[in-house]
Amino acid sequence: MPKYIVVTGGVMSGLGKGILSASIGNLLQACGYSVTISKIDPYVNIDAGTMSPFEHGEVFVLDDGGEVDLDFGHYERFVGVPLTKDHNLTTGKIFSSVIKKERRGDYLGKTVQIVPHVTNEIKDTLQSLGNGYDFIIVEVGGTVGDIEGMAFMEALRQLRGEKKMVEIHLTHLPLAGIDQKTKPTQHSVIQLRKMGISPDIIVGRCEELLRVETQRKLSLFCNVSEDSVISDPTLNSVYELPSHLAKEGLHQRIQEKFNMSVREPDMTSWTKFLDSQEVTKEITVGIVGKYSQGDTYLSIMEALTHAGAKLETKVKVKWIDAENIKDDLQDVNALITPGGFGKRGAEGKIKAIKYARKNKVPWLGLCLGFQLAVVEMAQNELGLNANSTEFDANTEHPVIIPHWEAGQDIMGGTMRLGAIDTDLEKNCQTAKLYSKTTISERHRHRYGLNPKYKKRLEEVGMHFVGTAQVDNTLEIFEISNQFFIGVQFHPELKSRPLLPHPLFLGLVKAALTQYDKAKQVF
Ligand code: GLN
Repeated sequence: MPKYIVVTGGVMSGLGKGILSASIGNLLQACGYSVTISKIDPYVNIDAGTMSPFEHGEVFVLDDGGEVDLDFGHYERFVGVPLTKDHNLTTGKIFSSVIKKERRGDYLGKTVQIVPHVTNEIKDTLQSLGNGYDFIIVEVGGTVGDIEGMAFMEALRQLRGEKKMVEIHLTHLPLAGIDQKTKPTQHSVIQLRKMGISPDIIVGRCEELLRVETQRKLSLFCNVSEDSVISDPTLNSVYELPSHLAKEGLHQRIQEKFNMSVREPDMTSWTKFLDSQEVTKEITVGIVGKYSQGDTYLSIMEALTHAGAKLETKVKVKWIDAENIKDDLQDVNALITPGGFGKRGAEGKIKAIKYARKNKVPWLGLCLGFQLAVVEMAQNELGLNANSTEFDANTEHPVIIPHWEAGQDIMGGTMRLGAIDTDLEKNCQTAKLYSKTTISERHRHRYGLNPKYKKRLEEVGMHFVGTAQVDNTLEIFEISNQFFIGVQFHPELKSRPLLPHPLFLGLVKAALTQYDKAKQVF
């Protein structure tokens, strides 16, 4: 029977509830417990697949093809357990399941109501996810009091009476002069109590450590013990949070509240990664994209951090606006063309790809990056009036087409999603980087290479070295004698702090050997 740890947020969004939840998971694992983690996103969408990365940050993709919130990236990086689309509960999913049951007649003539039918659906889902684990952490997206979250909060209130549960409330303590203001937290706790839930532990997000007077005040007004008011200050790196929480005694409080005998964490391997974040070198990687907002390319940033830490290199990221490229490519040591949808910025991205190819600037193309490099090669080396049909439906030479038109319609839906096994040619650069010839990577795309052009592209030096087992999609190309690799998948989603991704390691290594600035050629 799993123990529930519910993490709610108050005062405002964007406080780092995902990183806190992931860090609690990491800390409890370090104490020797088995942990799984799930997220409630109270929005009405079924999943994050249709949501704009500009508004919500990147869409994270799981092995089973689940398109989920970027917090799942934190969970996988910090906790490392396999997660599925079922671990993400949304209003859309819960209601569509209840409505399906209603249509099937499962409710035997009853009036179908939020309580008990919707709340039971929520409780049953959480219970089945937690089975077999010591703990299930449930992060509740949004802020307490949101109207969309009501059914979920009610289900959690019921669950609190039925199961063992600790409720952790993350709030914000604004600084006014030297004062750490507690009023917003007090109001947020009142809001929570109105829904029948009181917090067991308060985690206070503040630029600095909480003062004893602040802890005392929160303890008094919010009915938690003083040692259950935990500081969540701004740290150098998010990866420091698990060790910080251990120092604050969060693992002790959690175990005490469940009446467990207290185990101490062994953080050795995790802190080894933190130590390796000490750097001796620095490189700049340019990301040529449409959105410069940090969270849009979160997993790419993390993958670069992991690879940099392993190579004792600080990786600075330079945002390059694809719609406005001037001479900002000259001072980068490597370039990444990330994934994306839609025509905007495509021309600038192609320009940057040409620059990287001609000047041998180490380059990694991810998904759309792969596709645009094929277009660039067809235009500039084959001299064709070529494009992707995503950008020009009537192009004379459709080198990138929907995968179902390329005869790879095995997935049913239009989006090719989730983990797919790919065989690599034995001696290619990519196989050397991975040190294996079969890999599994995650996908999220509709378009791909038009196989009719493969031969001609190979004649001008673009070697296709990876073939998907399931449908023969050509997944990877490389160019000899330089680091110029395009992949139709998203390797950034599988990079872990203690296990940097081989393609990102390869890119950073190649960048370290390329300090000489290349000339601009376009
Ligand atoms: N828009 C492209 C496609 O649908 C690329 C998608 C992506 O980069 N994730 O295939």
